[in-house]
Amino acid sequence: MAKQPIITVNNLVKNYGDFNAVKDISFEVYEGEIFGLLGPNGAGKTTTLEIIETLRDKTSGTIIVDGFDIEKDAASIKKRIGVQLQAAGYYPNLNLSELIELFSGLYGVNKTPMEMLEKVALTDKAKAKYKELSGGQKQRFSIATTLINDPRIIFLDEPTTGLDPQARRNLWDLIKEIRDSGTTVVITTHYMDEAEILCDRVAFVDGGRIIDIDTPDNFIDKLVATGFERKKEVKLANLEDVFINLTGKEWREG
Ligand code: ATP
Repeated sequence: MAKQPIITVNNLVKNYGDFNAVKDISFEVYEGEIFGLLGPNGAGKTTTLEIIETLRDKTSGTIIVDGFDIEKDAASIKKRIGVQLQAAGYYPNLNLSELIELFSGLYGVNKTPMEMLEKVALTDKAKAKYKELSGGQKQRFSIATTLINDPRIIFLDEPTTGLDPQARRNLWDLIKEIRDSGTTVVITTHYMDEAEILCDRVAFVDGGRIIDIDTPDNFIDKLVATGFERKKEVKLANLEDVFINLTGKEWREG
């Protein structure tokens, strides 16, 4: 089946004053995939995402999201995407249920809090405040808020940073479910094991440029074909396996 691009970025440049943070990058994200932007701190990943999310101005280049040109139709793009808020955006006196009602009102959609909380397994926390949630629950709630407007694409910037191994796996399942239900996911992460398990394709960004784009599998095969060989693992498990084994097993890789 031909891959249909849902995001097309061409020759994107972003300067902050004299500093050239994004240097002429071009890429496509296909409809229905989990697309990862990987690369060292300061590579330009967040800048690129925030420009596509219409939150930041570009210096030059063209961006088409779901058929709309960001220059002419930023409002239409905003309606079709889901973006995670910074923690400060969650009014401290409102509980999760009230926050969902608030955001539904802002988007002009009619979503019940329970329907959204159910998607991220947080119905038992409906009356809790955001600050009372664990790190993993906070991330799940934040992902629920990106889904309120039934977006075509959601953007997740380092969604599993700081989470324990199990909460991370739990989030991977959630992100895959979202992809499987038809929503395209664009994600950044510094965890390569996560990108390998989760992403259909990844782009490596460094110094404001895209170095290469491919599936994780192809990247690994290409490296192995050069004769690269990792130091042999001598044990059949690692400390993360011990962690999962000792602290709970409700997560299953699906
Ligand atoms: P990280 O992995 O650390 O999140 P990143 O790949 O997301 O990094 P960006 O946050 O996009 O990188 O930053 C790219 C470069 O642009 C960095 O050198 C950063 O210091 C610079 N930069 C980002 N925002 C601004 C700004 N508002 N003003 C000036 N420079 C900025």
